Amino acid sequence: MSRLSKWWQLWQRTGMYLINGKVLCNDCAVKMLGIQNENAAEKARTLQPFLLPGNRG
Ligand SMILES: [Zn+2]
Repeated sequence: MSRLSKWWQLWQRTGMYLINGKVLCNDCAVKMLGIQNENAAEKARTLQPFLLPGNRG
């Protein structure tokens, strides 16, 4: 749990996503995908495919 939440915090700070041809920050990506009410783990899972390559790992 702590490992995932740490990873998620880092992701929230640095994450950029490409969704429907638009580059979005974490907040906008969450809203675009309608996952505001999901927990952090579920958000991470849902956002993963959209993460821009430069931000992976
Ligand atoms: Zn944004």
